[in-house]
Amino acid sequence: MDKGCLYVVAMPIGNRDDITERAKQILASVDVIAAEDTRHSRPLLQFLGIDTPLLALHEHNEQKRMGSLIEQLTAGGTIALISDAGTPLISDPGFPLVRACQQADIRVVPIPGPSALVCALSAAGLPTDRFLFEGFPARTGAARREQFTRLKDAEMTLIFYESSHRISDCLTDMAQVFGEERPAVVARELTKLHETILSYPLGQLVEVLSKDPHQQKGEFVVLVAGAVRNEDAIEPETQRILSLLLEELPTKQAAVLASRITGAKKNRLYQVALELAEKE
Ligand code: SAM
Repeated sequence: MDKGCLYVVAMPIGNRDDITERAKQILASVDVIAAEDTRHSRPLLQFLGIDTPLLALHEHNEQKRMGSLIEQLTAGGTIALISDAGTPLISDPGFPLVRACQQADIRVVPIPGPSALVCALSAAGLPTDRFLFEGFPARTGAARREQFTRLKDAEMTLIFYESSHRISDCLTDMAQVFGEERPAVVARELTKLHETILSYPLGQLVEVLSKDPHQQKGEFVVLVAGAVRNEDAIEPETQRILSLLLEELPTKQAAVLASRITGAKKNRLYQVALELAEKE
């Protein structure tokens, strides 16, 4: 018997009209829809006129349910995986099931559509050539600041999901670690009635949200501009080598040798060597 197929179907993140034609066709034709929360998905499916049977698949039962789902698929069944909003597996359940399907040689077909992170990035006005999606930041202050500290020097746009409970504290920690001047964007309630995209340096964003409680309500994507590389910066280890060489050699020779050892630019090292000599 031919094996079945798992469809990973993206759903709207607010505006119901964002469902794709292909998603509707697949949802109407599969044997069963595995939904993160059946109570949440039922009204939307009813609105779309889809009466395919639903089963719940969330992080608490995913491991337990997996065996029977894989059996069903192996026997030729078709299943659509959906989450409450956006693309399944993106800060949502489904990864263990997709991996189990791949391992069991069951076809997995993505049905693309909305995802809050791409939606926010497309309108934020921050560089899109490279970005890092971090999902939800840690929930507590110390762990969150530690996480941001690890990302401080990353040179690509950083993208986070955040809830209304923590948005203010999260932005305050970002301003503290990334600096108040770092450009950032808060994308709130995307595709919904109160959609707002605020673009300010982090320090100002903290102020704007604290002055207007409405801006703290709803669902958020926070985007932070990547660090700007300082072309003139010298690695601490390079500086250490240069300083050691300067103790034994004339400035120019020390700079040439330090450049050969570290790969740093000779002219820049000569400049630093002169500055070091001046300080002494
Ligand atoms: N799978 C979803 C996706 O593809 O975007 C994300 C699910 S995650 C559990 C939910 C988080 O996504 C929210 O807390 C919020 O950070 C973000 N999010 C979802 N919908 C959003 C929207 N309409 N506007 C802004 N952020 C949204």
